[in-house]
Amino acid sequence: MIAPGATLGVLGGGQLGRMFAMAAHRLGYRVAVLDPDRDCPAAGVANVHICAALDDHKAWHALAGACAAVTIETESAPAEALAFFAARLPVAPGEQALRITQDRAREKRFLAANGFGVVPFRVIATEADAAAPDIDALLPGLLKASRFGYDGKGQFSVRSRQELVSAARQLGGPGVLEQRVELAAELSVILARSADGATAVHPVPLNRHASGILDLSVVPAPLPHDISHLAVAESMRLAALLDYRGVLCVEFFLTADDRLLVNEIAPRPHNSGHFTLDACHTSQFEQQVRVLAGLPLGDPGLTAPHHGVAMANLLGQLWAEGEPRWEEALSNPHARLHLYGKSSPRPGRKMGHLTCIADSATDAQALASRIRSNSRPTLVPESAGEARPARLHAAASWRDMLEARLS
Ligand code: AMP
Repeated sequence: MIAPGATLGVLGGGQLGRMFAMAAHRLGYRVAVLDPDRDCPAAGVANVHICAALDDHKAWHALAGACAAVTIETESAPAEALAFFAARLPVAPGEQALRITQDRAREKRFLAANGFGVVPFRVIATEADAAAPDIDALLPGLLKASRFGYDGKGQFSVRSRQELVSAARQLGGPGVLEQRVELAAELSVILARSADGATAVHPVPLNRHASGILDLSVVPAPLPHDISHLAVAESMRLAALLDYRGVLCVEFFLTADDRLLVNEIAPRPHNSGHFTLDACHTSQFEQQVRVLAGLPLGDPGLTAPHHGVAMANLLGQLWAEGEPRWEEALSNPHARLHLYGKSSPRPGRKMGHLTCIADSATDAQALASRIRSNSRPTLVPESAGEARPARLHAAASWRDMLEARLS
């Protein structure tokens, strides 16, 4: 066991690294983060920020010197880095698990070879692969980059072989063509697994995506219990096969014709597990800390098991007219606002999230959606002059208030 007071290292400094650091601090650990961006979300909360590329060997030496154990917050971290750290320190996850899960082609082959349901696919390594006549059976489909794709980035919707060939050319590297399947639902399993194989599974969320990006997660997933149960069993089998250490997320498709398919695996905490911060005894980030430090896993269950939870992502477009109005998110006792400290709110960029707890999953979803849409800054009607953000219920200034009280 690594005692509190020690420094835990993380490769990557995005919001997942930030929330890992916050969980580590609560248990008395220090945190060192390696990330090339001076203003990355984790930089503001980590004790040490090594500002360098994730494949910078000098930085690896510096991090190894500063830390008692190392984890990742992104699958873009080089697997060789984990091999480097594993020769010196405890690491979670291990190099092999990262190698498989960071490469879509390798991951799909691994899943198919081990009997997991996957969408019909073909690895497209060359233009000739894209032009193969038997590829038609997979169309219409999606060509996805094998590496470094996220939130729908590096993906092309293709309907014909010509479109596929041109998409493969644009991709400029290896990809995976997936048949487009009709989805009935998307769900995910988030679990933590220790070096000794002990496993703790969080309640299963149902996930709704918009434009390839997670929009809402709802817990408990409003699905027949057997489906969530099967997804958990398959995820535990997968974690054992990978000899996994750390927090793992397995995303599933439930197809319209009732197949349960593994979409992809994330070797780290996942956006669809953010509800665990406010709704579970132990969050996915605290589990990540616990596994890394060799502490016992925490209870992954809901603190209010008869309630429903919803997590709504707050993307950059919510900032299009200026800073959102947070009054309702901050004043409603059933809502919790999380902001990641990012300064440039580009459309599609994950800026924060909102968690709501209510009597049922449906009520929680309605509340989260309502508070999020009420947070959008409203424009003053055109007749009132040039359009500008308005605070519709802005309080009077303190000077006016004071004057009114005194008069
Ligand atoms: P991904 O980044 O691969 O998880 O894809 C993002 C989202 O696009 C998924 O969560 C689905 O909503 C949708 N999607 C991805 N692949 C497929 C597919 N083969 N068939 C239908 N929808 C898909």
